Amino acid sequence: MSETLRVNPIACDAHGLCAELFPEWITLDDWGYPIVRPNPVPPEMMEHAHRAVDACPVLALKLEQAAAQKRVRSSR
Ligand code: SF4
Repeated sequence: MSETLRVNPIACDAHGLCAELFPEWITLDDWGYPIVRPNPVPPEMMEHAHRAVDACPVLALKLEQAAAQKRVRSSR
């Protein structure tokens, strides 16, 4: 199953380490907070993703199982 990277913006201290380790997927905004691509990380890049997650000093970066794409349609 594919996984996506998620940042907890409350926990993140804008160290920027994750973007240094995985620049293909993570960039920093003007304040040093990460901007993470929302799509699933391809298998060939998972090693980089794990390295970035492991390096985060405040455990703000996580890999999550990509949720099944379900659309709930409201009935009117
Ligand atoms: S390494 Fe962790 S604390 Fe630093 S910018 Fe990335 S998510 Fe935030």
